[in-house]
Amino acid sequence: MAMESMLSTESCLMEDQSGQANADALPAEESFRASLAMDTMDMEAAAAVSGVSSPNIHRSIQCRGATPMSRGRQNIDTIVLHTPEGFVPGTLSVLSGTRAGFDWYLPPSGELYKCNDYLRHFSWHAGDLGYNRRSIGIEQWDFARNMPNAPDAHYQRLARLCAYLVETLDLAVRHAKNYGEYGFIAHGVVTPHARWDPGKFDYDKLLSLVSDLVKGRPEEKLDPTDGDPTNGHPQKRYGSPASNASPPEPSTKATSTKPTS
Ligand SMILES: [Zn+2]
Repeated sequence: MAMESMLSTESCLMEDQSGQANADALPAEESFRASLAMDTMDMEAAAAVSGVSSPNIHRSIQCRGATPMSRGRQNIDTIVLHTPEGFVPGTLSVLSGTRAGFDWYLPPSGELYKCNDYLRHFSWHAGDLGYNRRSIGIEQWDFARNMPNAPDAHYQRLARLCAYLVETLDLAVRHAKNYGEYGFIAHGVVTPHARWDPGKFDYDKLLSLVSDLVKGRPEEKLDPTDGDPTNGHPQKRYGSPASNASPPEPSTKATSTKPTS
């Protein structure tokens, strides 16, 4: 259906998100080669960190809206959360275009798409060059206005992906509420003049689930005395494990009975 193959005009993916003037998109053949190479990368990354399993990727498709840059733990300190404002066909069609890109896509179906070899390029998802360079952009769910309807199962799937990123990239589990901060941030906070996605997203729920999955690295609370989080260079803080934390358990079962708010 035509409606389903298109994105809403409100979608961040309908606009140039490179944050650069005259940025060159990846050549189509290069993105094709990168797509083929991506599948094994996560298994290798996960194997490098003990106790972390690689995400179950449905498909890998390299976006063309990306700029080559060798990145790693030292460069990446933030996850930007989006809603694509559309359905799967329309969102995936962005990947072959030259306006925008993103690193991961988790639609309501739960099928996970890896959309950028993010250790070799930064994708154009945030509309802000600084954040594009320092972050991983996750398109998730469908519409910002529909975010309150996302079930716990969606948050649990998203948390598994985020926990993998936290472990392999050494990210802080914290909600970044202001421009310039590192952690988990809404696209609407990065470019508030242009975007409001992902809408009414439940950060407490996600971060609590991620914390449960990431052993020994408790959720970080914002503390005004905790230094200046906006001083440009990534400044990672994890805090020490709480003394009353329960001992790590090998179980990875969903904790649906645990209150999260
Ligand atoms: Zn967005």
